[in-house]
Amino acid sequence: MTDCIFCQMAKEKNLLLAEFKHCFVIKDQYPVSPGHLLIIPYQHTENWFTSSSEVKAEINLILEKMKKLLDDGYHPDGYNIGMNCGPAAGQTVMHLHVHLIPRYRGDMSDPRGGIRGVIPTKQKYE
Ligand code: AMP
Ligand code: ZN
Repeated sequence: MTDCIFCQMAKEKNLLLAEFKHCFVIKDQYPVSPGHLLIIPYQHTENWFTSSSEVKAEINLILEKMKKLLDDGYHPDGYNIGMNCGPAAGQTVMHLHVHLIPRYRGDMSDPRGGIRGVIPTKQKYE
């Protein structure tokens, strides 16, 4: 896709942190926290539900590898792993990408509920 930013980035080899058979890894341009990475398939597909089982399986392995890299380089205290699937869920780049977000004790005042914070008023359930 010529008008897709992540299809374009796939060709910018100097920007890729790691490359695998189906996917590459980049640093998020606007990181939520230090070390925030994106895992992206080379082949354009809109989201997790439109991607192949091969891509999904490789993403699982890459998550493990990148966690080790971030553990060693950034020493985070936790992680959020997330995908926005569709504009209603907040997706802004319509090419599958998995966010791997290291979390650090004290990076927000009360992190309880984590990913539930996609709807901020619902983050805490009790
Ligand atoms: P979303 O589609 O909502 O999951 O978010 C897209 C993500 O891509 C955001 O976290 C952006 O900071 C990131 N992003 C957008 N453009 C670039 C780029 N050129 N390089 C790296 N990350 C990007
Ligand atoms: Zn694309």
